[in-house]
Amino acid sequence: MQKIQMVDLKKQYSEIKPEIDQAIQEVIDSCAFVRGPKVFEFEANLAKYLNVKHVVSCANGTDALQVAVMALGLEPGDEVIVPSFTYAATAEIIALLRLKPIMVDVTLDTFEIDISDLETQVTSKTKAIIPVHLFGQCTNMDAVMTFADKHSLFVIEDNAQAIGADYNGTQHKGKSGTIGHIGCTSFFPSKNLGCYGDGGAICTNDDKLEESIRQICNHGEKIKYHHDIIGCNSRLDGIQGAVLDIKLPLLDAYNANRYKSAQVYNSLLRNMDMIITPVEATYSTHVYHQYTLRITNGKRDELAEYLKENEIPFGIYYPIPLYKQKAYSSYVKEGFKLKNTELLCNEVISLPMHSHLDIETQEIICSHIISFFNGE
Ligand SMILES: *Cc1c(COP(=O)(O)O)cnc(C)c1O
Repeated sequence: MQKIQMVDLKKQYSEIKPEIDQAIQEVIDSCAFVRGPKVFEFEANLAKYLNVKHVVSCANGTDALQVAVMALGLEPGDEVIVPSFTYAATAEIIALLRLKPIMVDVTLDTFEIDISDLETQVTSKTKAIIPVHLFGQCTNMDAVMTFADKHSLFVIEDNAQAIGADYNGTQHKGKSGTIGHIGCTSFFPSKNLGCYGDGGAICTNDDKLEESIRQICNHGEKIKYHHDIIGCNSRLDGIQGAVLDIKLPLLDAYNANRYKSAQVYNSLLRNMDMIITPVEATYSTHVYHQYTLRITNGKRDELAEYLKENEIPFGIYYPIPLYKQKAYSSYVKEGFKLKNTELLCNEVISLPMHSHLDIETQEIICSHIISFFNGE
């Protein structure tokens, strides 16, 4: 039997090999290695797909967040609110820019920033909030936007894990990443829309922000060798643009496969008292970047060990709250703790999830989980 993969990119590639190979060859023949026509074509197609005015590609998802925050023109010491249960990149770029990350707890059901925890955290220095659409579904953007309007905050959506999801609020509707002032995404190979290296993109409906974002991504230049502002070097490769342009029309089908696989897991694990399967929000579709369980009887680590022994891959996203990470300890008072974040870090475990998962593989995975708990 073939070894089970957490993310199987080979199967996906084998289906689109001729188109991908040809597109990559065209980039090589044209020598448009950094940006170039394929990249601009992809930016335009992504803007159309997201129904957003501007898309600016960049080197990776972390840069997308960094450039987005740079474009806001904040002052050192200004505060940016982030959920405490996320990938470190979300807070990392805030700290790098000499701003202060304010870590806020998350909800236990959908793992998103807890709006009720926000009011107590806002100060006169708070300038922006970065909701993270964790594991594939949108944060309650109606609530985030209402809160942000009230306190005049910028909203940057970290959409690295939810590209393609639809936000269906009562006040706001649209593709994930397009509700706030700026949306950021990643094309890291294992993301829902992955390229064959690093890549990222920033989207906005604001013409002024788009102009700064484009300028910052290219050393602060508008005219070659004229540097009006401090920027950085963050550009998408031609090869990545070509790969992404082929995969973009397939994104909805890939996400639908992920959704179907999630429903299969749900039904295979439905009778297990100690397992909470993913909770879907009413205001968002779910594109299952991760299929993440909560193990509520304290045996998450034992289960992980058991799966490892049986060569069943899994992921623990995320094992340590941001504020407990050495690098971020100086941003919180000693003994700082967020209840839900602590609990989730001890309970979550993610199962293999990708666009080409088959039911037989899922049955094998779940039979190991069930026999672990039933002591067989
Ligand atoms: C992957 C990811 C990023 C960073 O993207 P890279 O392309 O790896 O830099 C940022 N935020 C979240 C939530 C992510 O999952």
